[in-house]
Amino acid sequence: MGFSENAITVLKSRYLKKNERGEIIETPDEMLKRVSKHIAQLEKDFDYWFEKFYDLMASLKFLPNTPTLINAGNPLGQLSACFVLPVGDSMEEIFEAVKQTAIIHKTGGGTGFSFSRLRPKGEVVQSTKGVASGPVSFMKVFDCATESVKQGGVRRGANMGILRVDHPDILEFIHCKEQENAITNFNISVAITDDFLEKLKNDEEYELINPHTKKVANKLKASFVWDEIANNAWKNGEPGLVFIDRINKLHTLKGVEIEATNPCGEQPLLPYESCNLGSINLSKFVKNSSIDWEDLKECVHTAVRFLDNVIDVNSYPIEQIKTETLKNRKIGLGIMGFADMLVDLNIAYNSKEGVKLASDVMSFIQKESHIASSNLANERGCFPAYENSIFKDQNIPMRNATTTTIAPTGTISMIADCSSGIEPYFTLAYYKQVLDGKKLKYVNERLLDRLQSSGINVDDFLEELIANGGRLKGLGLPKSIEDLSKIFVTSMDMDYTAHIDMQAAFQNYTDNAVSKTINMPNSATVDDVKKAYFYAIEKGLKGLTVYRDGSRSVQVLVSESKQ
Ligand code: UDP
Repeated sequence: MGFSENAITVLKSRYLKKNERGEIIETPDEMLKRVSKHIAQLEKDFDYWFEKFYDLMASLKFLPNTPTLINAGNPLGQLSACFVLPVGDSMEEIFEAVKQTAIIHKTGGGTGFSFSRLRPKGEVVQSTKGVASGPVSFMKVFDCATESVKQGGVRRGANMGILRVDHPDILEFIHCKEQENAITNFNISVAITDDFLEKLKNDEEYELINPHTKKVANKLKASFVWDEIANNAWKNGEPGLVFIDRINKLHTLKGVEIEATNPCGEQPLLPYESCNLGSINLSKFVKNSSIDWEDLKECVHTAVRFLDNVIDVNSYPIEQIKTETLKNRKIGLGIMGFADMLVDLNIAYNSKEGVKLASDVMSFIQKESHIASSNLANERGCFPAYENSIFKDQNIPMRNATTTTIAPTGTISMIADCSSGIEPYFTLAYYKQVLDGKKLKYVNERLLDRLQSSGINVDDFLEELIANGGRLKGLGLPKSIEDLSKIFVTSMDMDYTAHIDMQAAFQNYTDNAVSKTINMPNSATVDDVKKAYFYAIEKGLKGLTVYRDGSRSVQVLVSESKQ
């Protein structure tokens, strides 16, 4: 099997089956067979598909999201990473959602919520004559519940909390994570509306609407709120932005409204919808310095079938989730190993060629995934809500309302031993502290290969590289390896426009959304953050997360694999 040592460590920690005494009772190979068998169970030609799915995973060309790897064929049987739950404006509905959240987290899923329907803080509650505590206060309840479930679940639960920019409590929301240890199990994002952006452009006030009474509660200067958001994002990376009207405009389903996304932002979903993800490891598709498109095409087609099967063999934790998910049959095929692919093709991440490669690869994957879904529709039927979709207007049969999503791949990229999602390398070399006080040297393997064939003293050079923060940029390189600094770039070697250009290139060809961090140097200003916001809007992104180096000691989820 091609698993690296790191991958085996990750697999042993959570993925491989254990007995009641906590002893591991399956090998990585048996894990893949367990998954393959479960996903192929509904196929008429079981043997054929069992082999196909197994080969795809064993070659590390494709891996499904973590819950599928852990739970397929096991008693929990819950296979999706992404959920969105509605939060209604009554005690009963709020605490029902808390309960549902706990059930989902227990099985390894992440949950997103819009708190925009909750009445603002201070409003009188008719039945008790008390006062409402507002969205932020209730988010803390969800946060506590998440904290408690953390220990017993298959992995730590993660949440996304979203509030519309026109909710009366928006300022409290923007500031709610200011203290380092507040609401730590949430990422938060402000849902930015087109109306707000229009008012911002004209430097006008906009209305805050009480969702309960539907009356105007207050007015604020759009530029003031925009500054507050940018200031906080500059301080600690939050809140993020979600361009909610754009998401709905581009949604393939009509007459329904998306209010929230999953925890890392890549999967906008309707209330009670869930989605299962899977990612293609692009580093496996470079042969003789070019892309093997035929192989990639076959991989996309098999992966789409795999993810479509997941929908039917899944054990849904809540009945409403089963109903909504089966209506639209959304799947999220994405990629990982993009930075590795660029290096293997000798292309810089922050270059025109890099952005073109992103567009070429993702347009190909999107197109082939739609063909695959269409073929499945001919074989198995269209998704039930097809009549209300844009595909119906275009007369294209589809098995799935969406096929593509770009996830962070925080853990599965470690299992596949490739760079995560579409991110550039975070660092090329560093010392990792291990338990007994020893230091372990990590070096990017592709860089190490090139250094070893260049004739320089590799050990000395690596010490210099580590002392330079794992970046080639700024090091005086010997002539024989001078060119490497153009190709082996890290996320701190490029400005925010390069990050956004790349996110936009992928978003253009992704049905759902793209998980990406827009890294900025510590010296970036609040004004730079605002410039990044405007650039993201101009480029048509569905959402944005900026992170200024060193501004937060612990980052939730996204960068786990890179630290
Ligand atoms: N997720 C979660 N908890 C985690 C990591 C991820 O709930 O600790 C969910 C969350 O919805 C996230 C999605 O899984 O957006 C995909 O994350 P990622 O690609 O990093 O997961 P992987 O499959 O690599 O474990």
